[in-house]
Amino acid sequence: MKLLEEKILKEGVVIDNSILKVDHFINHQIDTKLMDLFAEEVKKCCINSQIDKILTIEASGIAIAYAVSETFNNLPFVFARKNKSSIIDDNVYKTEIKSFTQNKITTVTVAKNFLKKGERILIVDDFLAEGNAAMGLIDICQQAGAIVVGFADMIEKEFQGGKKRLLNQGVKVYSGAVIKAFKDNKPIF
Ligand code: 5GP
Repeated sequence: MKLLEEKILKEGVVIDNSILKVDHFINHQIDTKLMDLFAEEVKKCCINSQIDKILTIEASGIAIAYAVSETFNNLPFVFARKNKSSIIDDNVYKTEIKSFTQNKITTVTVAKNFLKKGERILIVDDFLAEGNAAMGLIDICQQAGAIVVGFADMIEKEFQGGKKRLLNQGVKVYSGAVIKAFKDNKPIF
């Protein structure tokens, strides 16, 4: 998406040639027009796939999933919760996800009610880096017996290998912008 690349170049801030901050339009203030354009692109890529539900992870995935849901005729979307409490009830699917940006492991849950056997799931998120968040959400779908139709992220950092991991699992990937590398704290697409 040309517009997304332009926005990253103009408003994104790269830290230590590693982390891209996009607080101006994705992670804090939200550009809803950009989300809608991304959702349209995702729809084009999924035109031949039956999708029953969208799955994301809090917090930044929620606005993206909302836009994608609207574009897919208001398909329901569910967001995985990051558990803050050590008490987790039995009525959830749970997995552990290593956070790339915070360098810690978080337990993530989805209520069993909201993910059913045989449902066809499109997973969306803001970033694809090492693929840990995506693999965790795939794990939750597998626990439920749901089928992962694809994974759509707004920004892929290709050099971190997440896409390869997903393709190895047979999961199709769509990225709004693909960053091949950072050089001098500037993204190279
Ligand atoms: P992964 O699990 O694929 O390594 O990383 C994806 C998750 O980490 C996303 O949910 C995203 O929130 C966060 N993340 C990874 N890299 C970046 C980055 O460069 N910038 C921001 N803002 N978040 C990132």
